[in-house]
Amino acid sequence: MTILVDMDDVLEQLVEGMLRYVNARYGTTVSPEDITEWNLAKAFPALTREMVYSPEYDEDFWKTVEPMPGADRILRKLLDEGHEIYVVTATEYETLKQKMEDLLFRWFPYLDWSHVIIAANKQMIRGDVLIDDGPHNLTGKGIRKILFDRPHNRSFDEKSVGAVRVKDWDEIYREICRIAEEQRKGYETGYGEGREKN
Ligand SMILES: [Mg+2]
Repeated sequence: MTILVDMDDVLEQLVEGMLRYVNARYGTTVSPEDITEWNLAKAFPALTREMVYSPEYDEDFWKTVEPMPGADRILRKLLDEGHEIYVVTATEYETLKQKMEDLLFRWFPYLDWSHVIIAANKQMIRGDVLIDDGPHNLTGKGIRKILFDRPHNRSFDEKSVGAVRVKDWDEIYREICRIAEEQRKGYETGYGEGREKN
């Protein structure tokens, strides 16, 4: 299958990295569980939006962001099993070079630029499965959707867009195996492509 994987807060722990940076710099004590909305700045009422998002524009920041537990192991497994992987990220162009070199290609060295698609509108990208923590990215049609559970998306009803919520990369792997099996059966019986009807 062609599997589209989001980068921030799916392949790596961006929120945790941002909080470490902002808490150290401004003396705040916000934890990942306090981030219950997509807009990080809401958890820092005393700081400006520019202050909260300042780490992304610090060239040294990306080296401090850590991979998501299990992401490397499962990604290798999926590649070994013959799936095609594309990292689809809405990364801002100003931060792109440092973020790719110090984060994506550093922790996932078997990925290169040919595996990366930069897109603010992920619905435009074709694939069999999309894994993302952003509810706004899971609105496309004709693609299976996996919502990566994070405190900032807990209030979102994933079923409203036909997505399945998973808590970690092992669950992602199990869900992908299930979808692959469904597609295989679909092909065998000739009933469509085994894709979600929406
Ligand atoms: Mg994300």
